[in-house]
Amino acid sequence: MKLSIVIPAYNEIESLPRLVEMIHQHTAAFAPYEILVIDDGSTDDSRVMLETMAAEDPCVGYVFFGRNYGKSAALATAFQRVRGEFVITMDADLQDDPAEIPRMIAKLEEGFDLVSGWKRERHDPITKTLPSKCWNALVRKVSGLKLHDFNCGFKAYRREVAESIRLYGEMHRYVPVLANWQGFRVTEIPVQHHARRFGQSKFGGRRFLNGIFDLLTVTFIARRSAAPLHFFGRIAFYLLAIGMAINLYFAGVWIVTQTLHVRPLMILGLILVILGFQFASLGLLGELMIHLRGGEEKYRIAAEKGARGE
Ligand code: UDP
Ligand code: MG
Repeated sequence: MKLSIVIPAYNEIESLPRLVEMIHQHTAAFAPYEILVIDDGSTDDSRVMLETMAAEDPCVGYVFFGRNYGKSAALATAFQRVRGEFVITMDADLQDDPAEIPRMIAKLEEGFDLVSGWKRERHDPITKTLPSKCWNALVRKVSGLKLHDFNCGFKAYRREVAESIRLYGEMHRYVPVLANWQGFRVTEIPVQHHARRFGQSKFGGRRFLNGIFDLLTVTFIARRSAAPLHFFGRIAFYLLAIGMAINLYFAGVWIVTQTLHVRPLMILGLILVILGFQFASLGLLGELMIHLRGGEEKYRIAAEKGARGE
């Protein structure tokens, strides 16, 4: 199969039939293809509608979640099931234009592994576009990846990328960062963006704080040079070094003068030593977790040739 189109949908009953129809108009060249809708616990009548649609259209498949798990969960579930050589993800709300699909695939065929959409002219309220601009600048800074628009739902992947990226929580916002750090070739192209016609946005203000937490996680996962103790151990080392120096100083004072008074600095010394041990054990716990999981990470191998021997 050449192409899988993945659509996470949460209460998008008005948009879905129209979207599937539009997809068909632009993907004939990629047959056979599949359209996989992940219904993220919709409470409207999406389920009945999708069942009918799938019965009539052999290209359409679906997964229904028992409750609303979020977009990352929907994408992760789809990525375990896709069969196409190329995978497109797009929002269900008609904001992404299926007419862009051939251009995105052409970019993959040029040799890129992930093509991210860039909503250059965005049709969303300012309460959304402005924070998004700041957030994108922050992610650019932290990740070193120069994209304008990390969190566009419209993306094209080689299946290998979709299969090797692990999404949970709200990590879908960082797909390009994760892919880049795994050694995949990432790029972006400007895409048409439309205003939402039906229903309303599913992401409220809560997303800002969560977004920052997830950025921390992503940075930590990617930057800890594969060994938790290298990261936590370094912090522990400095805390212990300073703490011990303070304690030794007071030990010296006690030996020389035979008297000792509690001073703020003394308390600091104690706290630093305790914290140092805490960080060291955090690092060791991390190492233990990796060890129990079976050691090495998943490495992305770009090419390989075994020797035949003579
Ligand atoms: N979505 C989802 N589960 C959720 C929230 C959203 O599957 O818990 C889907 C939603 O149906 C849409 C896409 O993710 O297809 C993007 O959501 P939305 O359009 O609300 O986000 P926005 O465009 O406002 O950033
Ligand atoms: Mg939308």
